[in-house]
Amino acid sequence: MRYIEPHAHMVSRTTDDYEKLALSGCEVVCEPAFWAGFDRSSADGFHDYFRQLTEYEPKRAARYGIKHFSWLCINPKEADDPVFAREVMGLIPQFLKCPTVLGIGEIGLNKNTRNELAIFEEHVQLALDHDLPILIHTPHLEDKLKGTRLTLDSLANFSHLDRAKVIIDHVEEHTVSQVLDAGYWAGMTLYPDSKCSLDRAIDILEIHGPERLWMNSACDWGVSDPLAVPKCALQMKRREHTAEAVERVIYQNPRDFLSQSARFVI
Ligand SMILES: [Zn+2]
Repeated sequence: MRYIEPHAHMVSRTTDDYEKLALSGCEVVCEPAFWAGFDRSSADGFHDYFRQLTEYEPKRAARYGIKHFSWLCINPKEADDPVFAREVMGLIPQFLKCPTVLGIGEIGLNKNTRNELAIFEEHVQLALDHDLPILIHTPHLEDKLKGTRLTLDSLANFSHLDRAKVIIDHVEEHTVSQVLDAGYWAGMTLYPDSKCSLDRAIDILEIHGPERLWMNSACDWGVSDPLAVPKCALQMKRREHTAEAVERVIYQNPRDFLSQSARFVI
Protein backbone atom coordinates (compact mmCIF):
# COMPACT_ATOMS: atom_id res chain seq x y z
CA MET A 1 0.00 0.00 0.00
CA ARG A 2 1.23 3.49 -0.84
CA TYR A 3 -0.37 6.66 0.42
CA ILE A 4 -0.03 10.43 0.80
CA GLU A 5 -0.51 12.01 4.22
CA PRO A 6 -1.86 15.39 3.12
CA HIS A 7 -2.15 17.05 6.55
CA ALA A 8 0.30 16.32 9.37
CA HIS A 9 2.09 18.56 11.85
CA MET A 10 5.40 16.74 11.86
CA VAL A 11 7.25 19.43 13.82
CA SER A 12 5.36 17.99 16.81
CA ARG A 13 6.30 14.37 16.09
CA THR A 14 9.40 12.34 16.77
CA THR A 15 11.68 10.90 14.13
CA ASP A 16 10.31 7.46 15.09
CA ASP A 17 6.99 8.60 13.64
CA TYR A 18 8.62 9.25 10.27
CA GLU A 19 9.89 5.68 10.34
CA LYS A 20 6.41 4.36 11.17
CA LEU A 21 4.90 6.40 8.33
CA ALA A 22 7.50 5.06 5.89
CA LEU A 23 6.92 1.47 7.03
CA SER A 24 3.17 1.96 6.49
CA GLY A 25 3.62 3.02 2.86
CA CYS A 26 3.64 6.80 3.25
CA GLU A 27 5.46 8.44 0.33
CA VAL A 28 4.57 12.10 0.87
CA VAL A 29 3.74 14.27 3.89
CA CYS A 30 2.25 17.75 3.61
CA GLU A 31 2.42 20.06 6.59
CA PRO A 32 0.21 23.13 6.95
CA ALA A 33 1.40 25.90 9.26
CA PHE A 34 -0.56 25.84 12.51
CA TRP A 35 -0.65 26.71 16.19
CA ALA A 36 2.30 25.33 18.12
CA GLY A 37 0.37 24.66 21.33
CA PHE A 38 1.33 28.10 22.64
CA ASP A 39 1.14 31.65 21.30
CA ARG A 40 4.40 32.97 19.82
CA SER A 41 5.64 36.15 21.45
CA SER A 42 6.89 37.76 18.25
CA ALA A 43 6.92 37.47 14.46
CA ASP A 44 10.48 36.14 14.82
CA GLY A 45 8.92 33.00 16.30
CA PHE A 46 7.08 32.49 13.02
CA HIS A 47 10.19 33.21 10.99
CA ASP A 48 11.91 30.34 12.77
CA TYR A 49 8.81 28.13 12.38
CA PHE A 50 8.67 28.80 8.62
CA ARG A 51 12.36 27.89 8.39
CA GLN A 52 11.64 24.69 10.28
CA LEU A 53 8.85 23.84 7.82
CA THR A 54 10.82 24.68 4.68
CA GLU A 55 14.39 23.69 5.58
CA TYR A 56 14.50 21.21 8.44
CA GLU A 57 11.45 18.96 8.06
CA PRO A 58 12.07 18.11 4.36
CA LYS A 59 15.52 16.85 5.36
CA ARG A 60 14.17 14.87 8.33
CA ALA A 61 11.52 13.25 6.12
CA ALA A 62 14.01 12.48 3.33
CA ARG A 63 15.99 10.23 5.68
CA TYR A 64 13.00 7.88 5.50
CA GLY A 65 12.37 8.26 1.78
CA ILE A 66 9.39 10.55 2.39
CA LYS A 67 8.88 13.81 0.47
CA HIS A 68 7.83 16.71 2.68
CA PHE A 69 5.87 19.75 1.49
CA SER A 70 4.41 22.65 3.47
CA TRP A 71 1.71 25.32 3.46
CA LEU A 72 2.28 28.73 5.06
CA CYS A 73 0.10 31.21 6.96
CA ILE A 74 -0.59 32.52 10.44
CA ASN A 75 -3.06 30.08 11.98
CA PRO A 76 -6.60 31.18 12.94
CA LYS A 77 -5.93 31.04 16.66
CA GLU A 78 -3.09 33.56 16.59
CA ALA A 79 -4.74 35.57 13.80
CA ASP A 80 -7.18 37.15 16.25
CA ASP A 81 -4.62 39.94 16.77
CA PRO A 82 -4.70 41.61 13.32
CA VAL A 83 -1.65 43.83 13.81
CA PHE A 84 0.47 40.85 14.82
CA ALA A 85 -1.10 38.68 12.09
CA ARG A 86 -0.22 41.18 9.36
CA GLU A 87 3.35 41.38 10.63
CA VAL A 88 3.63 37.59 10.29
CA MET A 89 1.94 37.62 6.88
CA GLY A 90 4.59 40.06 5.73
CA LEU A 91 7.14 37.24 6.17
CA ILE A 92 5.30 34.80 3.93
CA PRO A 93 6.22 36.06 0.40
CA GLN A 94 9.96 35.46 0.94
CA PHE A 95 9.21 31.83 1.90
CA LEU A 96 6.93 31.25 -1.09
CA LYS A 97 10.13 30.96 -3.14
CA CYS A 98 11.07 27.74 -1.29
CA PRO A 99 10.80 24.69 -3.58
CA THR A 100 8.59 22.68 -1.20
CA VAL A 101 5.94 25.32 -0.36
CA LEU A 102 2.61 24.39 -1.97
CA GLY A 103 0.27 27.20 -1.00
CA ILE A 104 -1.49 29.13 1.76
CA GLY A 105 -2.83 27.17 4.76
CA GLU A 106 -4.21 26.16 7.04
CA ILE A 107 -6.14 29.38 7.26
CA GLY A 108 -9.70 29.80 8.49
CA LEU A 109 -11.66 30.43 11.63
CA ASN A 110 -11.21 29.25 15.20
CA LYS A 111 -13.80 31.07 17.32
CA ASN A 112 -15.50 32.73 14.33
CA THR A 113 -14.44 36.26 15.32
CA ARG A 114 -14.48 39.35 13.12
CA ASN A 115 -10.67 39.64 13.33
CA GLU A 116 -10.18 36.02 12.31
CA LEU A 117 -12.45 36.55 9.31
CA ALA A 118 -10.55 39.67 8.21
CA ILE A 119 -7.20 37.89 8.35
CA PHE A 120 -8.70 34.84 6.62
CA GLU A 121 -9.79 37.03 3.71
CA GLU A 122 -6.38 38.70 3.49
CA HIS A 123 -4.80 35.24 3.24
CA VAL A 124 -7.20 34.28 0.44
CA GLN A 125 -6.18 37.42 -1.41
CA LEU A 126 -2.49 36.59 -0.85
CA ALA A 127 -3.08 33.16 -2.41
CA LEU A 128 -4.90 34.71 -5.36
CA ASP A 129 -2.12 37.24 -5.87
CA HIS A 130 0.41 34.41 -6.13
CA ASP A 131 -1.91 31.93 -7.90
CA LEU A 132 -1.60 29.35 -5.11
CA PRO A 133 -3.92 26.64 -3.79
CA ILE A 134 -5.53 27.14 -0.38
CA LEU A 135 -6.00 24.78 2.56
CA ILE A 136 -8.72 25.80 5.02
CA HIS A 137 -9.21 24.71 8.63
CA THR A 138 -12.76 24.63 10.01
CA PRO A 139 -13.49 25.14 13.71
CA HIS A 140 -14.12 22.42 16.24
CA LEU A 141 -17.32 20.97 17.70
CA GLU A 142 -20.05 23.54 18.35
CA ASP A 143 -18.28 26.21 16.26
CA LYS A 144 -17.91 24.02 13.16
CA LEU A 145 -21.24 24.49 11.39
CA LYS A 146 -21.33 28.26 11.86
CA GLY A 147 -17.64 28.55 10.98
CA THR A 148 -18.08 26.50 7.82
CA ARG A 149 -21.01 28.68 6.72
CA LEU A 150 -19.05 31.87 7.41
CA THR A 151 -16.10 30.46 5.47
CA LEU A 152 -18.23 29.53 2.46
CA ASP A 153 -20.02 32.90 2.50
CA SER A 154 -16.69 34.71 2.61
CA LEU A 155 -15.17 32.65 -0.21
CA ALA A 156 -18.23 33.32 -2.37
CA ASN A 157 -17.24 37.00 -2.44
CA PHE A 158 -13.98 36.17 -4.27
CA SER A 159 -15.24 36.06 -7.84
CA HIS A 160 -11.87 35.02 -9.33
CA LEU A 161 -11.33 32.11 -6.95
CA ASP A 162 -10.93 28.71 -8.63
CA ARG A 163 -12.84 26.50 -6.20
CA ALA A 164 -11.05 23.38 -7.46
CA LYS A 165 -7.86 24.82 -5.93
CA VAL A 166 -9.37 25.12 -2.43
CA ILE A 167 -9.71 22.34 0.13
CA ILE A 168 -11.85 22.79 3.22
CA ASP A 169 -10.60 20.45 5.90
CA HIS A 170 -12.03 18.77 9.01
CA VAL A 171 -15.47 18.29 7.44
CA GLU A 172 -17.96 16.13 9.28
CA GLU A 173 -21.39 14.70 8.46
CA HIS A 174 -23.13 18.05 8.90
CA THR A 175 -20.71 20.12 6.78
CA VAL A 176 -19.42 17.87 3.98
CA SER A 177 -22.36 18.40 1.59
CA GLN A 178 -22.18 22.19 1.72
CA VAL A 179 -18.47 22.08 0.91
CA LEU A 180 -18.71 19.58 -1.95
CA ASP A 181 -21.89 21.07 -3.41
CA ALA A 182 -20.18 24.47 -3.64
CA GLY A 183 -17.41 22.93 -5.76
CA TYR A 184 -14.59 22.80 -3.21
CA TRP A 185 -12.52 19.82 -2.14
CA ALA A 186 -13.21 18.41 1.34
CA GLY A 187 -10.81 16.85 3.84
CA MET A 188 -11.81 14.38 6.54
CA THR A 189 -9.62 14.35 9.63
CA LEU A 190 -9.29 11.05 11.45
CA TYR A 191 -8.99 11.69 15.17
CA PRO A 192 -9.18 9.24 18.05
CA ASP A 193 -11.79 11.20 20.03
CA SER A 194 -13.17 14.09 17.96
CA LYS A 195 -13.63 15.04 14.31
CA CYS A 196 -14.07 11.79 12.30
CA SER A 197 -13.54 8.27 13.55
CA LEU A 198 -12.38 5.77 10.92
CA ASP A 199 -15.88 4.34 10.48
CA ARG A 200 -17.56 7.74 10.32
CA ALA A 201 -15.14 8.81 7.59
CA ILE A 202 -15.86 5.64 5.61
CA ASP A 203 -19.61 6.22 6.07
CA ILE A 204 -19.17 9.72 4.59
CA LEU A 205 -17.15 8.27 1.73
CA GLU A 206 -19.81 5.65 1.01
CA ILE A 207 -22.61 8.24 1.06
CA HIS A 208 -20.90 10.96 -1.00
CA GLY A 209 -18.51 8.93 -3.18
CA PRO A 210 -14.78 9.61 -3.53
CA GLU A 211 -15.00 12.70 -5.75
CA ARG A 212 -12.96 15.63 -4.28
CA LEU A 213 -12.52 13.91 -0.91
CA TRP A 214 -9.32 13.08 0.96
CA MET A 215 -8.49 11.87 4.44
CA ASN A 216 -5.69 12.85 6.80
CA SER A 217 -4.49 12.29 10.35
CA ALA A 218 -3.73 15.97 11.13
CA CYS A 219 -1.39 14.51 13.75
CA ASP A 220 0.08 17.18 15.99
CA TRP A 221 1.15 17.69 19.59
CA GLY A 222 -2.27 16.67 20.94
CA VAL A 223 -4.21 13.40 21.03
CA SER A 224 -3.84 12.17 17.46
CA ASP A 225 -2.58 9.18 15.49
CA PRO A 226 0.02 9.58 12.74
CA LEU A 227 -1.04 6.19 11.34
CA ALA A 228 -4.74 7.06 11.10
CA VAL A 229 -4.75 7.05 7.27
CA PRO A 230 -3.31 3.54 6.78
CA LYS A 231 -5.56 2.31 9.62
CA CYS A 232 -8.56 3.74 7.79
CA ALA A 233 -7.38 2.06 4.59
CA LEU A 234 -7.30 -1.25 6.45
CA GLN A 235 -10.79 -0.60 7.78
CA MET A 236 -11.97 0.16 4.23
CA LYS A 237 -10.66 -3.25 3.16
CA ARG A 238 -12.53 -4.86 6.06
CA ARG A 239 -15.67 -3.13 4.79
CA GLU A 240 -15.02 -4.67 1.37
CA HIS A 241 -13.81 -1.60 -0.51
CA THR A 242 -11.60 -2.67 -3.41
CA ALA A 243 -7.87 -1.97 -3.52
CA GLU A 244 -8.59 0.54 -6.32
CA ALA A 245 -11.16 2.39 -4.19
CA VAL A 246 -8.69 2.59 -1.30
CA GLU A 247 -5.88 3.80 -3.55
CA ARG A 248 -8.15 6.48 -5.02
CA VAL A 249 -8.87 8.13 -1.68
CA ILE A 250 -5.49 7.76 0.03
CA TYR A 251 -3.21 8.38 -2.96
CA GLN A 252 -4.80 9.52 -6.21
CA ASN A 253 -7.13 12.16 -4.79
CA PRO A 254 -4.51 13.97 -2.70
CA ARG A 255 -2.07 13.72 -5.63
CA ASP A 256 -4.65 15.23 -8.00
CA PHE A 257 -5.45 18.14 -5.70
CA LEU A 258 -1.87 18.83 -4.67
CA SER A 259 -0.58 18.61 -8.26
CA GLN A 260 -2.34 21.91 -8.89
CA SER A 261 0.75 23.37 -7.26
CA ALA A 262 3.64 23.28 -9.73
CA ARG A 263 5.90 22.49 -6.76
CA PHE A 264 4.20 19.17 -6.10
CA VAL A 265 6.44 16.81 -8.02
CA ILE A 266 6.54 13.21 -6.75
ZN1 LIG B 1 -3.87 21.00 11.09
